[in-house]
Parts: sequence; C-alpha cells; structure tokens
Amino acid sequence: MKAAEVGTPKRTKEIIAKYGFSFKKSLGQNFLIDQNILHNIVAAAELDKSKGALEIGPGIGALTQQLAEEAGTVTAVEIDQRLIPILRDVLAEQPHVEVIHGDVLKLDLKQLFQEQFSKVERVSVVANLPYYVTTPILMKLLEERLPLENIVVMIQKEVAQRMAAKPGGKEYGSLSVAVQYYCEPKLVCIVPHTVFIPQPNVDSAVIKLTLRDTPAVEVPDEDHYFRIVQGSFTQRRKTLANNLTSLVGKENREALTELLTASGIDPTRRGETLSLEEFAVISRAFLAKGWG
Ligand code: SAM
Repeated sequence: MKAAEVGTPKRTKEIIAKYGFSFKKSLGQNFLIDQNILHNIVAAAELDKSKGALEIGPGIGALTQQLAEEAGTVTAVEIDQRLIPILRDVLAEQPHVEVIHGDVLKLDLKQLFQEQFSKVERVSVVANLPYYVTTPILMKLLEERLPLENIVVMIQKEVAQRMAAKPGGKEYGSLSVAVQYYCEPKLVCIVPHTVFIPQPNVDSAVIKLTLRDTPAVEVPDEDHYFRIVQGSFTQRRKTLANNLTSLVGKENREALTELLTASGIDPTRRGETLSLEEFAVISRAFLAKGWG
C-alpha cells in the first residue's frame, strides 16, 4: 500500500503536531506542501530505477517519499537530529532509502558516494535547499567533481536567475560563470511562497543544472581562471582594465591595457559583458605573460 503523502498541508500539520516539532528558522526549514511542485521537481531530475538520488535536507520527507517512488536508491542527509526519528517513521516502508544525520557541508561526499551509490548508473542531487547555505552547498557539489548527472534544486528565485544569467545583464556575475563552467542551467519553474510551511519571505525557483562532461571552457589553471573572473566583477561599475589592475599592480596598468587589446578584448568593457570563453582568453594571456 502506498504511504499517505507527506507534502500536503493537512498531513504536514499532523506530523508536526504528532511529534511536537518546532521549526528552526536558522536551519532554513520551510517544508513543501504542494504535490504538483514536488512532482515537477522529481520529474525534472529524470530518474528511473537504475539511478540514485541524493537529497540534502529532507525535512519530514515530503520530497524523499516522491524520490523513493522513482529512483533505485535514495540517500537523504539531514542536519537536524530532531527530524531523524520522524524521517525513519515516515519512510519506514521504503527499504531503499537511507537517512544520514549530518551537515552536508562537513561530510566527505566522495566517500558517501562510494558507500551509497556504487550500484547505480547515475546520481542526481534533488533538494529543496536551505536558503542560507545554497551557494556553499552547490559549489561544494560542483568543485568536488562528484559523478553527478544533474542537480535539481529549489532555491531563492534571485539566486536561480543569477545562476542561469547570460552575459550583458545585471544578474550575470561570478556565480553565473562558476555554475555555467560546470553545468548547463535551466530554470524549471518559479514557485510562490504559499507552497511552504512556514512561508519564506522570498520567492523561490526550481533550477536544473545538467553537469557537463568537460567544463565549458578549457583553461590551464582553474584557480587562476576564477581569480580573473572574481577580479573582473570586484566593482561592477568599473571597467575591466580598472578592476584587473588590482591583480597586476598599478605599474603594469599600461601593459594590461595592451594585453587586453591584443587579446581582442576592449579594456573599457565591463566584466558583466564577458563570456566564459573571453575570461579564459584573459586567463591564458595573463599566464603566458607570467602574471599568475
Ligand atoms: N525537503 C524538505 C521539504 O522540501 O519539505 C525540507 C526542506 S527545508 C527548505 C531545508 C532542510 O535542510 C531542513 O530540513 C533543514 O533542517 C535541512 N538543513 C539545513 N542545513 C543543512 C545542512 N547543512 N546539511 C543538511 N541539511 C540541512
């Protein structure tokens, strides 16, 4: 028999009352109570029984339950000890779901993948993320080069828009470049705050990040590439030449202008107009000149 769906207003309120659970704002606890949204999130991950799902922050299991229907194996990492017994109860009839108590930012994810996902072909991260740590969590997943097929997450709408932004607009910045270096982003849907208990005071969106087989651009030194990207956005109103001068020193200002021009990049442009490839052109030119 299929267990009653957790992600409805009635059932969520019942569970909260039954266990005397109180929400911790500091842990970003906003639980989903809309079955349509839950279905849309899970559908976007394109799971099947040959695949695994890692959920970060399962709460009382609304999304976990849906993931268990679709994926061959589900691992859910929850920081709040008070939720662990609730999750074990709610998910009792799902033997292929593992609940782990821990802080995802502190876990050794490579080891977790070896332990939990050695028998599945591909893994997705699917989560309604705690908004206070969205970016650190996503950057950890990407920088550790985990064998992921895609990441489908509910996050703050503005952050989703920044991740998916193309050059030329005010939303495009170092986060857009960092995410697009590793993934192809796609906004799945915008979500009103009425589908959560308690309601957050920001709008939300579901974003799908499909991992690239190789990064979007080829660079000799990733750390240097990202230093150039960060440096180019230090002060958004400033030109590229002005922002990058702080990386090479005032005495090299003229050489910098010449190097940018010789690389086919107008030094008076602003960072927000540059493509991922143009940042790579600058990084390569800097390294060739010995500006590490
Ligand atoms: N997945 C549930 C849902 O959609 O209803 C709950 C989502 S709620 C937005 C975020 C969840 O992440 C909470 O259960 C919170 O306790 C948990 N959480 C917060 N920080 C975490 C961390 N660093 N590691 C793991 N879980 C975390």
